[in-house]
Amino acid sequence: MHMNNIMELLDKDKCCGCEVCKSVCKPNAISLKSNDEGFLYPEIDDNICVKCGKCSLTCPVLNHTESKMQSDCYAGYIADKNILINSSSGGFFTALANNFLRIYPDDGYVVGVVWDTTYSNVYHFCSKDINDIAKMRGSKYIQSNKGNIYDEVLSKLESEFNVLFVGCPCEVVALKRYLKKDYERLIAVDLVCKGPTSARMWKDYKLCLEQKYKSSITSVNMRYIGWKEWIPQWINIKFSNGNEFKKIFYTTDFGRAFYLVQRKSCYSCNFRDKGRMSDITLGDFHGANTLKKYYNRLGTSIVIANSEKGKCTISNLLSKDTLLLPVNYEEIIKHNPCIIKSNLPNEKRGIFLKLYNDVNMHLAVKKTYPLKERLINYLPPDLSGKLYRLAQLFKGRKGKS
Ligand SMILES: Cc1cc2nc3c(=O)[nH]c(=O)nc-3n(C[C@H](O)[C@H](O)[C@H](O)COP(=O)(O)OP(=O)(O)OC[C@H]3O[C@@H](n4cnc5c(N)ncnc54)[C@H](O)[C@@H]3O)c2cc1C
Repeated sequence: MHMNNIMELLDKDKCCGCEVCKSVCKPNAISLKSNDEGFLYPEIDDNICVKCGKCSLTCPVLNHTESKMQSDCYAGYIADKNILINSSSGGFFTALANNFLRIYPDDGYVVGVVWDTTYSNVYHFCSKDINDIAKMRGSKYIQSNKGNIYDEVLSKLESEFNVLFVGCPCEVVALKRYLKKDYERLIAVDLVCKGPTSARMWKDYKLCLEQKYKSSITSVNMRYIGWKEWIPQWINIKFSNGNEFKKIFYTTDFGRAFYLVQRKSCYSCNFRDKGRMSDITLGDFHGANTLKKYYNRLGTSIVIANSEKGKCTISNLLSKDTLLLPVNYEEIIKHNPCIIKSNLPNEKRGIFLKLYNDVNMHLAVKKTYPLKERLINYLPPDLSGKLYRLAQLFKGRKGKS
């Protein structure tokens, strides 16, 4: 019987780029092609497609389901200061991963996202080596390449290994659909996610920096602590000739691209709130009460248990390694609404992309970035950090009045 393939059923703008259709297609009829925004979309070779329908039956967008979440919420941070300053918020990914490999030293695998060797792209990577956790640490704000990760996780689980998988909410749902059944040995962790920007934009930005510094990149940290506190986040890039680039993330061309451009499907993402299928959700605790014990100025995470397994995993964390306290779910959502709902597309998204495609990223940023906000770029780093934080405070006060 002939079944419809994914491209016959799925509105392209709704495709979340999870790549599970490609993974499930055994005849290899599906390849991924970049659109003019730099995001990857599946393309089907009709000469190879056997119309088995597996791609459309697995697609998480076409087969959306909702589950009842438990929503036990906590806030806190990892005790190890060195790990904390190198993490995106409170370091709970590392706390979970280290504890997992401590419990399963011989039969546990962690899956997270790492840079490739040239810092051009990021991909999901599976490892049992505790030294690889540091490479996974740190949010890389571009969409990852999934490669054959879903299949690798399946074969690990089938071989009775334990797996801790971390990814964006759509990637967790895609994994669950690929696996087709629940595995007690799998702990799925998703992130609070406003949506990644495209790898092509990062590549263009990287090329400009490498030309400017006449050297290749040797490390990237998009959540660098530039001035004693985790907010505002900075970007720190090191080069093989010893140069170092440090700037407030959202004032850089790439930071602006991430601010303005998400994948189209991210503006109507169905994998938040009740659409999540993870055991645990991790995010930044924006708007945290800085006087509370759970707050650390070097980074504070929110940790949400979505299942009994998630609750149990969190309760297994050693109290000497982490500080974690219960917090109110409504309070968290008030300051971080993208836990439950998508952002609207930025009104400058279209013009930014047009200028980016017609001219280049730098001009697109220049023309869409108001002068008064841009001036901050020209101040010495310490002063710009202080001013940025003052501006945010002022904005918050104005919003409240
Ligand atoms: C694209 C993206 C958008 C995000 N948007 C928000 C947001 O709007 N609000 C918010 O509160 N939090 C957001 N986060 C999550 C936040 O940045 C932190 O990852 C989270 O607070 C966990 O902090 P941590 O200290 O435990 O992270 P870390 O210890 O730094 O670990 C980060 C984890 O994220 C994984 N990861 C890194 N890059 C990617 C990627 N490209 N795709 C999938 N997984 C990745 C790593 O493998 C690691 O497991 C986003 C993350 C990403 C990747």
